[in-house]
Amino acid sequence: MAVIHQLSPHVADLIAAGEVVERPGSVAKELLENAVDAGAKRVTVEIQNGGMTFLRVTDDGCGMAPDDAETAFLRHATSKIRDAGDLASITTLGFRGEALAAIASVSRIDLLTRPAGAEAGTSLRLEAGVVLERGPAGCPEGTTIIVRDLFYNTPARMKFMRSDAAEGSNVFAVVQRQALCHPEVAIRFLKDGQEQLSTPGDGQLQSAIYCTLGRQFALDLVEVESRWERLKLHGFVTKPTATRGNRAYQHFFVGGRPVRSKLLTSALEEAYRNQMMTGRFPGCVLCLDIPPELMDVNVHPAKTEVKFLSERDVFDTVRYGVLGALNRTPGRPEMQLKAPPGAPPAQSGSTAPAAKKDFYQSMDAAQFRAFAATLRDGPKPSPQAARRAPAPDRNGPPLQSPARSENLLRSPVLDLGAGPVKEAAAPDTPVSAPVKAQKTPAASAPSEEAAGQARLPMPEVPDWRVIGEALDTYLIVEQGRELLFIDKHAAHERILFERLRASQEDIMSQVLLAPLPVHLGREEAVAALENAALLETCGFELQDFGGGAIVLRRIPAELDESQAELALQELAAQLLEGRHKDPASLRDGLLHTIACKAAIKAGWHTEPLERDDLVRQVLSREDIKYCPHGRPVCITLTEKQLERQFKRS
Ligand code: ADP
Ligand code: MG
Repeated sequence: MAVIHQLSPHVADLIAAGEVVERPGSVAKELLENAVDAGAKRVTVEIQNGGMTFLRVTDDGCGMAPDDAETAFLRHATSKIRDAGDLASITTLGFRGEALAAIASVSRIDLLTRPAGAEAGTSLRLEAGVVLERGPAGCPEGTTIIVRDLFYNTPARMKFMRSDAAEGSNVFAVVQRQALCHPEVAIRFLKDGQEQLSTPGDGQLQSAIYCTLGRQFALDLVEVESRWERLKLHGFVTKPTATRGNRAYQHFFVGGRPVRSKLLTSALEEAYRNQMMTGRFPGCVLCLDIPPELMDVNVHPAKTEVKFLSERDVFDTVRYGVLGALNRTPGRPEMQLKAPPGAPPAQSGSTAPAAKKDFYQSMDAAQFRAFAATLRDGPKPSPQAARRAPAPDRNGPPLQSPARSENLLRSPVLDLGAGPVKEAAAPDTPVSAPVKAQKTPAASAPSEEAAGQARLPMPEVPDWRVIGEALDTYLIVEQGRELLFIDKHAAHERILFERLRASQEDIMSQVLLAPLPVHLGREEAVAALENAALLETCGFELQDFGGGAIVLRRIPAELDESQAELALQELAAQLLEGRHKDPASLRDGLLHTIACKAAIKAGWHTEPLERDDLVRQVLSREDIKYCPHGRPVCITLTEKQLERQFKRS
C-alpha cells in the first residue's frame, strides 16, 4: 500500500515554482509587476545570457523594511490582500504572494532594499529559498533584486530552456508588454550591457508605443476611446491599410495586465471584417478597464488569462469601440512624397504619430451598437421598391438603376442614377429597425438620432469641386486647401459592397436572354452546385448540365454579363476553399467578388455626373474609406505638401 506523506515546504515551493516560473521572462514579469505595485517611477531590467545567469530589476519604489524583506520570500507572503473578501477588489498586479518564494526556490538571489526615508537599507542573500546572509546595507531608496543561475538546482527544468537568444527575446517581449501597460513608469531594458528599450514614463500611451513598438507602427494608428456601461476601452489600433502578416502586434491589457484572450482577438478582428485582406491581421494596443468584480484573473497562475463575467459585453465593447474609431477616422492617407532635396525635414504636422485632430472621434460602444444595427437591419425593401431605391444608399440616389442594366454590356459606364439630389431624399431618411438580441436601452432603440450620427451633414452647396480625372482612374477633387485623389474602382466597389450587404432580401438578379454556359473546374462545379441555394441569394441561378458543365440563367442585376463567368469562377473557388467558414463571412466573401466584378474599372470612361455622384458619396459617407480588401479609396495632397515640393514654404 502506498504511504502518504506531506511534502516538505521546499518541495512544495519547487512545484509551485513550476507554475509561476517557467523561464527568465516569467521572472522578469513578476519582478516588474512588483516594482510597479511598489509605486516605482523608474524601473530598469538588465539581463545577461538571456536572463539565465543574471537578471536584475532595479526600482525606485517604496522599498521594504528589514523584516518585511525576509517575509516577502515566504510562500503566501503578500502585503496586497489579507482575507478572502479582498480577492474581489484587487487593484495591484500581484496578490498571490507566491512569486518571490517561487523564484527564490530555483535560483540564487541578492536583494537590496530601502524604504523611502529610512536611514539604512537591507541586504539579503538567498540560495534555493534559504536565507544565507542578512544585514544592513547602504543603498538607494527602492529595491534591487538580482536573480542568478535560474534553475541551477532543477536540472530537469533547465533542459526546457531554449537558446540564450530565444530566452532573451522572450524577456524583451515581457518588458515591452509591461512598458505598454504602464506608460506612467519609465522602463528601461538592457541586454548584455546594451540598451534595447527605454520609455519616458510620461503617462502617454502613445509615447510608450513609439518607444516600444517603433516609429513605423506608431504612425499607422487610430485612437480608440469608448465606453460601454462600466467597461472602458482605450488605446490604438492599426489602420486597415497598415495591417500585419501575423498577430504579434496585438497587445491587450485588462485591468493593467497583459492578457491573451481569444475573445478579445476575435472582437478586434471582427471590427476589421471586410476592410482587410485575408491573411492580414490588425495590430493594436488596447486597454480594457473593467471593474474587478466583473472578471476573474486568478484562473492562471501567471495571470495571463482572464475570465469575464459577461463575455458578450466585453466582445461588443471591443468590436464596436474599434469599428467606431475606424469609421470615424478620416480614411484619407496623405500622399507620401519625398522631401525635395535641400528642404528642411518635414514638419511633424503630417507625420506626427496620428495627428491630434484625428483623436476622440470614436463613437462609444452604445452609440455604435445602435448605429451598426441600423446599417445591418436597415430598411427592408420589397424587390419592387428596391428597384426604385436600393436600400442602404443613405446619401444619394442608387448607383445604378436596374432599368439600365441591360445597357451595361455595351456601355460599361458607372450608372449613378444621376437624378437631382432631391430624389435621393427618400431613401436617405434613416429608418429605425428592430435590433437583434440587444438588451440595453441604448441599443434596443436605435433612434434616428443614432443613425444620424453616422452621416456628416451635407452642405447644400458642396464644399468641393471635381477638377478632373487622371489616367481614367483617379478622380481629382479640390476641397478646402487640399486635393483629394479618389480611386474610382475602389470607391465604387465599396459602395456596391455596402449596398449588397445591407440588403436583407436576396440580391436582385437579371434574367439572361440566352443561358450562359460557364466553364468551371470539376471540383468548383460541384462546390457551386452544392451551394446553389446560397448563390441564388446572391443573384445567380445556375443549372447543372452534367460533366462539370454549368449554365447561368440569372445573374446579379449589378453585374455585366461579360463579367459573369469570371465572377462565378471566383465564387466557386471561394466556396471550395471556404467550406468550413461561417456563413456570414462566406457570404461577405461572395459579395466582395460581385462588387469587385460589378464596379466600374480603372481605365473606363466615367461621365461627369457619375463622377460627381461618386465623389459626393465618398465625401459624405463614413463607411466608404477602404475597398473591401483594405485598399484606401481616397488620399489627400495638402497645400503644405505642395508648397514644400515647390519650395514655397
Ligand atoms: P505578491 O506580489 O503576489 O504580493 P510577491 O511574492 O511577488 O507576492 O511579493 C511579496 C511581497 O513582497 C509583496 O506583497 C510586497 O509587499 C513585497 N515586494 C516584492 N517586491 C517588492 C518591491 N520591488 N518593492 C517593494 N516591495 C516588494
Ligand atoms: Mg508579485
